[in-house]
Amino acid sequence: MRTQVAIVGAGPAGLTLAQLLHVEGIDSVVIENRSREYVEARIRAGVLEQGVVDLLTTAGVGERMTREGLVHEGIELQFAGERHRIDLKRLTGGKTITVYGQTEIVKDLIQARLTSGRPLFFEVDDVRLDGIGTTRPRVLFRHEDAAHELDCDVIAGCDGFHGISRPSIPANALRTFTREYPFGWLGILAQVAPSNEELIYSNHERGFALLTMRSPQISRLYLQCRPDEDIAEWPDERIWEELHARLEVPGWTLAEGPVLEKGITPMRSFVAEPMRHGRLFLAGDAAHIVPPTGAKGLNLAVRDVQLLAEALTAWLRKGSETLLDAYSTSCLRRVWRAEHFSWWMTTMLHKLEDGDPFAVRLQESQLRYVVSSESAATSLAENYVGFD
Ligand SMILES: Cc1cc2nc3c(=O)[nH]c(=O)nc-3n(C[C@H](O)[C@H](O)[C@H](O)COP(=O)(O)OP(=O)(O)OC[C@H]3O[C@@H](n4cnc5c(N)ncnc54)[C@H](O)[C@@H]3O)c2cc1C
Repeated sequence: MRTQVAIVGAGPAGLTLAQLLHVEGIDSVVIENRSREYVEARIRAGVLEQGVVDLLTTAGVGERMTREGLVHEGIELQFAGERHRIDLKRLTGGKTITVYGQTEIVKDLIQARLTSGRPLFFEVDDVRLDGIGTTRPRVLFRHEDAAHELDCDVIAGCDGFHGISRPSIPANALRTFTREYPFGWLGILAQVAPSNEELIYSNHERGFALLTMRSPQISRLYLQCRPDEDIAEWPDERIWEELHARLEVPGWTLAEGPVLEKGITPMRSFVAEPMRHGRLFLAGDAAHIVPPTGAKGLNLAVRDVQLLAEALTAWLRKGSETLLDAYSTSCLRRVWRAEHFSWWMTTMLHKLEDGDPFAVRLQESQLRYVVSSESAATSLAENYVGFD
């Protein structure tokens, strides 16, 4: 097989890149090691920046998102038993966020790919990258018991944190930066109308909690927990009890419903630099991870491939390598801004150091500053809605 761009991974990064290249008339082949059903059911992110919504719409995959996505103009911060609203729209000159599940974006992108008639292989295995330091890179893989060799001009490594693209780069050519947090998030999906119209981020003495949603009928709720917590120790009643304790304020109650899904996610910050090695370009979680408190992971993945699609189009159409050469530096500027914002939100909102009173006072002071200073609130808002 031969293509212009071999895309490893059919998550948001790989599928969005495939669609953006298709719009430009550039050939690609997408390979994914999981099944279509698995990829479409993987519950993850759900908050989209305005710029990401605009990009997906321009790329022709925004029709259902426009119909079903929930546009939010603000978020709420809760601490010391009080709730304060951050008016994102007013503070950012009209920008909003859209709540639309990653599962739905992935379904829309897969449908668009199948409609385009361009190749997308699920359930491949034994994927290997060859010749990434040469001008003739190849992807080797197995599909339905047959061995395949895919010749290409470039490889896009969109295979997430645990994929094979990043480890294919010689260790001495990469620099990595990591921060592990001593807590994780226990997340549930519940069949109940969200108890609040907007997201609530709660700093509480028992630990952080977040109320968010996926649709007018489905709530998504998170609790700070230990990263090695056993989910078996969290029957539904215990989860609800803890959510009530951490989210409720006088006059406001949390509605309960059947728990459809639950799981624990560890929290990590990670960046690999540079995001390119020869003809291999890393995008999304393959190159960087943020703790989910800033709602940036999915947005960063889409923004990376926006730049990559522009750079590949300039190179494959006009022979200009300028944007390709700038790809890693341009992405990393945005990535580090998101890394800082996600770390900052995480440390401001979670229970740190076993509730050390000094850390608690600092957090409360920071939160009071954010909700009472126009400048501080604007800083949070412009990071949250994303930079263009
Ligand atoms: C449990 C969880 C919860 C999250 N919650 C949030 C949230 O609330 N908010 C937020 O903003 N972000 C969240 N994130 C982060 C967000 O989901 C990711 O940033 C986003 O999925 C990144 O997209 P991606 O395409 O780069 O990577 P992925 O979505 O990981 O996609 C990579 C794809 O590559 C495939 N793959 C892996 N290895 C291979 C291989 N060898 N060959 C072929 N294919 C391969 C994988 O199966 C996968 O389909 C969460 C992440 C996790 C894990």
